Amino acid sequence: MAALTSSEWQDVLAYVRKNHANVVRKWFDELGDAALDHGILEIGCANLPQQRYLTEQCIVAFTEAAQVLTSRLVTVRFLIVAPAPVNGHANGHMPRPPAGSFDDDSMPTLNPEYTFDNFVVGPSNRLAHAASIAVSENPGEAYNPLFIHGSVGLGKTHLLQAICHHVRMTRPDAQMLFLSCETFNNHFIEAVEAGALERFRYRYRHVDVLLIDDIQFLSARERSQEEFFHTFNTLYQERKQIVLSADCCPREIPSLEDRLTSRFNWGLVSRIDTPCLETRMAIVQKKSRNRNVDLPEDVVHHLASCIDSNTRELEGAITLVDALSQQHGRPVDIETAREAIGEQPSVRHRVSVQAILDDVAAQYAVTKAELLGRRRHKSIALPRQVCMYLARNLTELSLQEIGNRFGGRDHTTVMHAIRHVDHRRQEDHDLSVTLDELSVRLANGVQRPK
Ligand code: ADP
Ligand code: MG
Repeated sequence: MAALTSSEWQDVLAYVRKNHANVVRKWFDELGDAALDHGILEIGCANLPQQRYLTEQCIVAFTEAAQVLTSRLVTVRFLIVAPAPVNGHANGHMPRPPAGSFDDDSMPTLNPEYTFDNFVVGPSNRLAHAASIAVSENPGEAYNPLFIHGSVGLGKTHLLQAICHHVRMTRPDAQMLFLSCETFNNHFIEAVEAGALERFRYRYRHVDVLLIDDIQFLSARERSQEEFFHTFNTLYQERKQIVLSADCCPREIPSLEDRLTSRFNWGLVSRIDTPCLETRMAIVQKKSRNRNVDLPEDVVHHLASCIDSNTRELEGAITLVDALSQQHGRPVDIETAREAIGEQPSVRHRVSVQAILDDVAAQYAVTKAELLGRRRHKSIALPRQVCMYLARNLTELSLQEIGNRFGGRDHTTVMHAIRHVDHRRQEDHDLSVTLDELSVRLANGVQRPK
């Protein structure tokens, strides 16, 4: 948990004063005990009438302020807290954690590109798309829960975030929580350790829309499952919307309690399949237009034919083709496209660990020995994690095998590395582009330009 610094808090207040002057009251000056944690901004107030007024009249103003200032999805809660103790001892009140800031690592971000407008609909995702629209128009009423599954890179996170964008536009007062299952797990463990379960429950059970991405990470986590079971029931009974995504259908999530499997099937379970050629071409067109890259039809066709499974790789291909044409100083043509991603449609290159090591070492200007070694300095740690991430996505190796090949690490280290990179790429655009380029190059066996 990160307490807001006083200047951050002043920014929030200033925003509210400027944009929602009509709700501001004199006593707002006395507020200020605010903390941001896992996407929830808690603001302390003095008594019940204040809490009521804030909750009923000001939630939109404060939510908007927090979201604008952090560029993230934030839920706001007003809590009654005792005034700060004069003698420096917190008499029975929870001590505030050390001052932190608006950049809480665990905060969810919404990618502004992940809207319904930017989502290409085709036979592979029509149902999931329609269901997502229905849910965002009538949260809690259309399908509850909505469970979207499909393999990596097919647009699950995109759809979940599109629901968030849409609800945020149409119902600014709706309280939404969008988070990865991993964040839920971590937050739960922290809450147990800090003896703060009460608070944890209050947070997750008082929202209008709860969206959890990659729910398969509940697998084999008994206590998190138990907790999520109760969260689910509370929200469901109050007809609050629940949206979940996973890389497989509920029944296939390993070690998931039956009662959860059955609940996940209560609403609508919708699978996203690999898009067909036409859909892939439409995606390439949309993405390249958004990036202001002008691609002729035959290039669009070539990219879409060569890359047929993961949409993320299509984006990488666009970036690569664009970079190459700039390097050559001529407009994108089919030769550039062939050079960038190879000749043959749909021939997947077998990616070797050696190739990953070579490419990542060159990309980050480190040596292979360093990648395989034990040094933990940041400059080595990220490239090493990138290697494991690429190995997971581009080879058939198991987590343990990846660990063995990359310097004898155990599978939990590998899992941590993969999640870390996955998490960071959502926040860090440059990293995301680098990963796409590396993936496309490796998957198509293309030599790195000297
Ligand atoms: P997942 O969560 O299923 O692994 P993402 O939602 O992260 O996949 O999608 C990967 C990338 O592919 C994103 O940049 C997303 O915008 C894009 N994408 C996937 N499907 C579509 C689609 N139908 N239309 C437009 N973009 C898509
Ligand atoms: Mg995802």
